[in-house]
Amino acid sequence: IASRAQSTKHGVHRGMSSVTIPPPACMLRPLEAPFRYLFGPGPSNVPPRVLAAGGRPIIGHMHSEMFGIMNDIKKGIQYAFQTSNNMTLAMSGSGHTAMECALFNIVEPGESVLVAINGIWGERVAEISERMGAKVHTLVKTPGGHFTNAEIEQALAKHKPVLFFLTHGESSAGLVHPVDGVGDICHKYNCLLLVDSVASLGAAPLLMDQQNIDILYTGSQKALNAPPGTAPISFSERACHKMFNRKAKPVSYLLDMTHLSNYWGNDGKPERTYHHTGPVSGFFALRESLAILAETGLENSWKHHTEVAEYFWKGLEDLGLKLFIKDKDLRLPSVTTIAIPEGYNWKELLAYIMKHHRIEFTGGLGPSVGMLLRIGLMGYNCNKANAAMALAALEDALKQCRMSKA
Ligand code: PMP
Repeated sequence: IASRAQSTKHGVHRGMSSVTIPPPACMLRPLEAPFRYLFGPGPSNVPPRVLAAGGRPIIGHMHSEMFGIMNDIKKGIQYAFQTSNNMTLAMSGSGHTAMECALFNIVEPGESVLVAINGIWGERVAEISERMGAKVHTLVKTPGGHFTNAEIEQALAKHKPVLFFLTHGESSAGLVHPVDGVGDICHKYNCLLLVDSVASLGAAPLLMDQQNIDILYTGSQKALNAPPGTAPISFSERACHKMFNRKAKPVSYLLDMTHLSNYWGNDGKPERTYHHTGPVSGFFALRESLAILAETGLENSWKHHTEVAEYFWKGLEDLGLKLFIKDKDLRLPSVTTIAIPEGYNWKELLAYIMKHHRIEFTGGLGPSVGMLLRIGLMGYNCNKANAAMALAALEDALKQCRMSKA
């Protein structure tokens, strides 16, 4: 009776029975997250400075100081992308959010899209485009393949798409795709160029304005070394013209650039109005990671990734391993791919390395599953000591995991 009186007094009990599901036992135990060397294709380990920024007390998502931090992020992205586009911002969400934002805002149902598929990311973009009612045309190569500008031009002339998608750093194959000249060819056919740089930004040279890229996006969790969950994106004036002169509103309210451009102070209006609550801690961390890139300098960052990758590739070859991408110039410096060595089960190799070395490497993804192993050394993780540690772990696993011939 006493407890009923009490709950009634506090307004909890209104003829309802009390809770029947008890607090779960796991919730009464502390959080456990082990330390791991994240040498897969991402997320990558986060440096203490970025973790500390993300751990600061939060402020409101619409406070003037937060808008100041968002303005800094915008400047940091403009530097990282090498663009002076005003329509530059960070998505509240992972790389896929930026991918969907680009497609949902630029393409209207019924319009044609051309997608270069040489790994999983083109497959994803083709699927998203299909779901939103676009006419999807594809240019396809097996993982590790790339497209010549002549092949791209031929497909553009044939399909007359409004948008062409290309992955700069194909993390499922370990390939960095040439971008020079592609933007000019697209514009010749009145088509916009969308480029995915989630796995390559900060690791391999990419110059949004000079290379005439119309929409460029990346993720926070690769060479930028922020936690996953925010995704920089930028739109050229040409892209803005298309997306702000649509017939119908984009299907997604959350990803509608009319609202997002206001939230990021990019639409020239004096007032920013509430759209959604941005990930305040994620933005703090992203700002810090962009600050590290600005301090390091883009060119130094590209050079450093190449030097460490070359040291790593040489070590892999010394172990008798075969690099999946034969042409050095087409190898992605941030994510190295190795052909699965004969006589080994790739899942066993990965499990052994995780168990005995606390290191994450991964297998293939999408069309490259069963073809290769992927090892990422990005940003904070990109140094010769880590490369040597990864090589030692591989050497040990190669000794211990050879399958018997029986
Ligand atoms: N594109 C590429 C090239 C990627 O490597 C990834 C992530 N592995 C994505 C897109 C998707 O990013 P997210 O997992 O952050 O959504």
